[in-house]
Amino acid sequence: MTTIRLVQGDITRESADAIVNAANSSLLGGGGVDGAIHRRGGPAILADCQKLRASHYGKGLPTGKAVATTAGDLDARWVIHTVGPRYSHEEDRSHLLASCYRESLRVADELGARTVAFPAVSAGIYGWPMDDAARIAVETVRETRTAVEEVRFVLFDETAYRAFAGRI
Ligand code: ADP
Repeated sequence: MTTIRLVQGDITRESADAIVNAANSSLLGGGGVDGAIHRRGGPAILADCQKLRASHYGKGLPTGKAVATTAGDLDARWVIHTVGPRYSHEEDRSHLLASCYRESLRVADELGARTVAFPAVSAGIYGWPMDDAARIAVETVRETRTAVEEVRFVLFDETAYRAFAGRI
């Protein structure tokens, strides 16, 4: 059984085996939680990301996929980078957002991570409505078979926290 916990705060301050980054497909940093993780985690994370670009992901990490790097100076062993979909009014991309959570947990299982902290993937710069992002996040984690013992959703503000709390 995976326990789901909610925390309001800054994910870069969390201690967990793995912290998930809402990355963009370049893996080379960006705004929001991505910028915060690279700033606090230091250059080792970017160095690993550059290696991944050069080896496996020349065209970038596809949307809905996940890949791990060192966590650098963060209080975690790994950062799992996942690329959320941009919200679209024309097209239902929910399966891609669900895939971010599923793939991140698959990578966590490969690493042997037991505690994993997630932000609200896609619900910032990528524009996903928070309530729907929370529904997809919680439903997908509940439906995924994983050896991860604790999934912690780390929500930056009260609106996000309330949206997730309403789904638990
Ligand atoms: P995306 O591009 O996938 O939308 P963002 O980083 O813009 O990613 O936003 C995802 C969510 O993460 C938003 O709800 C945003 O408020 C939140 N966020 C931003 N910085 C942090 C942080 N340091 N810790 C936790 N959540 C954060």
